[in-house]
Amino acid sequence: MRRRKPKTTRSIRKPVRTGRAAKNGALRAEVIAACRGLTRLGLTYGTSGNVSVRLDAQRFFISPSGTAYDALTPADVPLMDLGGRWFGRRRPSSEWRFHRDIYASRNHVGAIVHTHSPRATSLACTGRGIPAFHYMVAVAGGADIRCAPYHTFGTQGLSDAALTALKDRHACLLANHGVIALGEDARTALALAGEVENLAAQYCAALVLGEVRLLDEAEMRRVAEKFRTYGKPDAPDPDLLFAGPDLSHTAARGPR
Ligand SMILES: [Zn+2]
Repeated sequence: MRRRKPKTTRSIRKPVRTGRAAKNGALRAEVIAACRGLTRLGLTYGTSGNVSVRLDAQRFFISPSGTAYDALTPADVPLMDLGGRWFGRRRPSSEWRFHRDIYASRNHVGAIVHTHSPRATSLACTGRGIPAFHYMVAVAGGADIRCAPYHTFGTQGLSDAALTALKDRHACLLANHGVIALGEDARTALALAGEVENLAAQYCAALVLGEVRLLDEAEMRRVAEKFRTYGKPDAPDPDLLFAGPDLSHTAARGPR
């Protein structure tokens, strides 16, 4: 009986420790993958931009300041808490304040991507947001994607302005600076940052052509409801029936 007791204790504790370490490692890897995704998708130049992923209600992992994305290792990704304390061997991105404030005020946000992507940043340098020029603008949660007024990078003023622009939205532009995109995880936040860049490119092109026709509020509400109900723009269509695998290539051979 005496021998069994410590054995049982070990068998209970070990998986818990392993599970926590594995989760932290996976979240750090998610930060790094999204950072490299910024480069792959053409959403950043050099080390501009940053990424964070929530660990729990109080803590998040964030990309470090000024480290080349292709050289990042999981141990380079610092952990931060909502009190501004950080843990690790590399200092967090200088934009940690808006990451911290978004996690503190938006419970459902699991990841944040910040970019200086070229078209969206160009638009933000005119002080413009993205209006309802295309129905896909609704992917950011409403009828427009707002542009927060300019504040110096890394300041509380910038964070406060960003939070106001993000009200009821999953993305915003930052005047003379860039973009913030939110998601349930790093993959969805990165995808939204890419979509914002794509929309900005289309809107810039439309502005060059001439007067841009905007969709009205009722239509954008309808689109937002479709996105909300179906979850995504390419969701199943109730009138579209899947009727089995395509056998036409086998049928085309004919009898031998
Ligand atoms: Zn920035």
